Amino acid sequence: MMQQFLRIKAQHPDLLLFYRMGDFYELFFDDAKKASAILDITLTARGHSAGQPIPMAGIPYHAAEGYLAKLLKKGESVAICEQVGDPAKSKGPVERKVVRIVTPGTVTDEALLEDRRDNLLVAICQHSSQFGIASVDLSRGQFVLQQVQHEHELMAELAHLHPAELLIPEDFPFADTLQDANSLCQRPVWHFDADSATQLLLKQFNTHDLKGFGCQHMSAAIAAAGSLLQYVKETQQSALPHIQGISIEHREDGIVLDAASRKNLELDSHPSGDLRFTLFGVLDKTVTAMGSRCLRRWINRPLRNQTLLRQRYQIINALMPGFDLLQPTLRQVGDIERIASRIALKSARPRDLLILRNTLAVLPELQQQMADLEATEALQPVAEHIGEHPELLQLLQRAIIDNPPVLIRDGGVIAEGYHAELDELRHLSQNADQFLLDMEQRERETTGIATLKVNFNRVHGYYIEVSRQQADNIPPHYTRKQTLKNAERYITEELKEFEDKVLSAREKSLAFEKSLYDGLLDKINAWLAPLQQCASALAELDVLVNFAERADSLNLSEPVLTQQPGIEIEGGRHPVVEQLTDIPFVANDLSFHTQRKMLIITGPNMGGKSTYMRQAALIVLMMHIGCFVPAKSASCGPIDRIFTRIGASDDLASGRSTFMVEMSETANILHNATENSLILMDEIGRGTSTFDGLSLAWACADFLARQSRAYTLFATHYFELTHLAEEQKTIHNVHLEAMEHGDKIIFMHAVKNGPASQSYGLQVASLAGVPLTVIEQAKTKLHQLEHQAYQKQQTDSGVNQLDLFCSDDYHPAITLLQDINPDELTPKKALDLIYRMNDMLK
Ligand code: ADP
Repeated sequence: MMQQFLRIKAQHPDLLLFYRMGDFYELFFDDAKKASAILDITLTARGHSAGQPIPMAGIPYHAAEGYLAKLLKKGESVAICEQVGDPAKSKGPVERKVVRIVTPGTVTDEALLEDRRDNLLVAICQHSSQFGIASVDLSRGQFVLQQVQHEHELMAELAHLHPAELLIPEDFPFADTLQDANSLCQRPVWHFDADSATQLLLKQFNTHDLKGFGCQHMSAAIAAAGSLLQYVKETQQSALPHIQGISIEHREDGIVLDAASRKNLELDSHPSGDLRFTLFGVLDKTVTAMGSRCLRRWINRPLRNQTLLRQRYQIINALMPGFDLLQPTLRQVGDIERIASRIALKSARPRDLLILRNTLAVLPELQQQMADLEATEALQPVAEHIGEHPELLQLLQRAIIDNPPVLIRDGGVIAEGYHAELDELRHLSQNADQFLLDMEQRERETTGIATLKVNFNRVHGYYIEVSRQQADNIPPHYTRKQTLKNAERYITEELKEFEDKVLSAREKSLAFEKSLYDGLLDKINAWLAPLQQCASALAELDVLVNFAERADSLNLSEPVLTQQPGIEIEGGRHPVVEQLTDIPFVANDLSFHTQRKMLIITGPNMGGKSTYMRQAALIVLMMHIGCFVPAKSASCGPIDRIFTRIGASDDLASGRSTFMVEMSETANILHNATENSLILMDEIGRGTSTFDGLSLAWACADFLARQSRAYTLFATHYFELTHLAEEQKTIHNVHLEAMEHGDKIIFMHAVKNGPASQSYGLQVASLAGVPLTVIEQAKTKLHQLEHQAYQKQQTDSGVNQLDLFCSDDYHPAITLLQDINPDELTPKKALDLIYRMNDMLK
C-alpha cells in the first residue's frame, strides 16, 4: 500500500495527498505533519519507513469539505485520491486514482467558496519590457487579460485583483516581493511560452486567430493566459466550455488606484476586519451573492467612461420608485453565475439545478415589475440580457423533483415522467412485491391451483411453488427449477424475465438515472451563453436596485459628470463616518477648478482634516462606479487617478521604516500625477525631524502645484506651508474650524477659507487625557520656544531657508526627489537619499 501511495504522491509532489482508506482520507509523511498543524488534528504513526515510524493524520471522508475549506484558505492545494477498484476482486491494495485536484484558485464547489467574494486565479509573467497579467474566475468563466509596464503597476493590479492563487514562472524576477501572496505557485518557464499559449487559446476558443479578441499584440498577457489555461486543465481534468472568450482590460479605462490608496481609503477592507467601516460595507445591501460580488468588483475598478456611468445613473433614477418591490423578488434569485460554471464543468449538484429552476421561475415576475416602472427604456438592455428562458425552465421542471437529495449518487433526483425507462426500472424495484402478488393471483386462476405461491429466495431467485400433490396440474410452460420434499418449484419465461429485470433494476435505475442526469447537464449546456449573460445582468440589476435603495436611505444625490476640468461638491459628507458617528455630521463644500488646484488644510488634530480629504476621494470614486453620492450636489470633470498618502505604519516585513514607506509613496505620486489626478496628502514629513519634514512637505507641495497641477488636498501641521498660497495663485488655504472654550476645545468640523489661527495641539492632548501637570509644563515650554524663535528671526540674516524653495530655481533637494524612481528604490538607496537630503537641508 505504501508503494502505491508513494507512486501516486510522486505525481503530485507539491499537493497534499488525501489518500482514501475506508471511511477516511489519510495523509502521510510531511503532508501529515503539515495538515495536522493547519487543521489541528492528531498526528499518529503507521508502520515504518527506513526504521522510522511513518507520520500519519486522517480525516473522516464525510467531513472532508470543512477541512478542505480550511486548507484552501491557508493557500494549500489538495489531490483527492479515491479507491476506484473493487476491493473484493483485487489482489493487494485496491486500485486508487487521483480523481480531483482542488486548489485555492480553481475551486468551484459551493461549500468551498466564499459566496460574496470573487475567487480569482491569476498568472503573471514578464516578456521583454511588459508584464502580462491573465486572470480567470472559474466559477464565473471570465478570462481577462492586461499588460502593464512597471513593477509598481503590476503590484497595484495584483492588489486590485486580490488573487486566491497566483501562478508565476519559476524564473520570475520579482518572486521575492510576492511571498506574501495568498497562494503562490511556481510553474515551469515553458508554460509561459507565447506561441504555445496562442495555440492553446485558439483551441479553447475554436478560432483561427486572436484578432477578434483584440489581444494579438499582447504576447506577455497571452503567455500568462496560456499558463493559466494549462493549469486549469490539469486541475479540473475536464473540458472548460464555459470559458468562452477573452476580454481585455486597459488600465486607462479605469481610474487608477495603487495598492496603498485602496488600503488607505478603506474601500473593502479595514484593519479591524470589520466591513461596516468600509465603503463596501456601507453600500452593500444587495440581496444576491452575485450582486454583492459585482458591487465589490465595481468599487475596486471605478470607470472613466462617462457615457456608461450616466446610463447607470439613469437606471438608478428609473428604479427609484420600484426598488422596494424588486428587492424581495431578486432575493429569490440564486447564484446562477456559479451554478452555470458548475454545469459546464459537470460538477453541478441536484440542488444547483433546483436553484436554477427556482430562479428561472421568478424571472417573469421580475420582468413584469421592471416593465411596470415608468422610465422603462433605461432598463431595456438589462431586461433583455436577463431574458426569461421558458424552455429551460420547462426542461428543469420536467426533469428534477421538488426536493432532490444532495447527491445524484443516491438517486431519486430525476422526476417521474421524465423518461419512461427510468420510471419502469424504478417501478420494478419498488413494486416487485405487488407484481408477485398479482402474478400469484393470475397463476392461481389460470391453473386452478389455489395453494400456488410465487416467491423469492436469495439462492434460487424467483420461483412458482406448487405442492407435490398438485404438481401434475401445472401447465406445460412451467419449467422445473427445484424439487423439495413436499413441493416442486418452477420458473416460467415471464418470471425469468421479471427476475432479470428486478434483480438489476435498482442498480440499473441508479446508473440510468446518473446517465440521464449527465445528459441533462449536457442539454442545459446548450443554454450556457444566455445563462451566463442572464446571471451577470441579474447581478448588475441587483447592484443598481441596491444603489437606488442606498440613494433613498442614505440621502444620496445624482452627480453630474462633465468634460469641464474641476471638482465641485456642495454639502459633501463622508459616507462611512456619517454612519458611525452619533453626532450630526457636518457637511462641507469642496471646489477645484483651473484656478484652484491645491488646498492646504490646517486645523487641530481631530478637527476633521482626514475625514474631509477622504470624503472627497470617496465621493469622486462613488460617482465613477455609477452610484449616487453623499452630497447636496456634486459635479466632476475627467479624473485619471486617485492617489493617497495617508498615515503610515512601519512595513517591518520588508524592512522599510515609516518614513521610507512615506517617501516611496510620495515619489510614486510625484512621478505619476497628472492634471486630472486627485491627490490626498496627509501630514507628509511627519516621520522625520521637524525641519527635514517641513522642507520636504514644502518642496512636494510646491512641485505638485507647479509641475503636476493635480487636484491636491494637502493636510499639514506645518503652519509655514500656509504661506505657499502667497506664492502660487492655484494654491489656497482652508482650515477646519475649532473653538476654544476655557482650556477646552470644541471641534466644529466645518471647513472655512484661510489658514487656521493656531494648532490647539495642547488642548487636544488634554482632551485625550494627558495629565494636567504635563500639559502645564508643555505650555511653559511652548512659550519659551516661541520666544526663542522670535528672537532668532530678529537676528537672522534675513534669508529664510524656505524661501529657497519658493524661488523658481529649484532647490537641489527637489531635483533629488524628482529623480526617485520607485521601481528602483531599494532600502539602501532610500537611506542614501535621506542622508543626502539631510545634508542639503542643513
Ligand atoms: P484630523 O484628521 O483632523 O485629525 P479626523 O478627520 O480624523 O481629524 O476626524 C476626527 C473625528 O472627528 C472623526 O473620527 C469623526 O468622528 C469626527 N469628524 C470629522 N469630520 C466630521 C464632520 N464633518 N462632521 C462630524 N464629525 C466629524
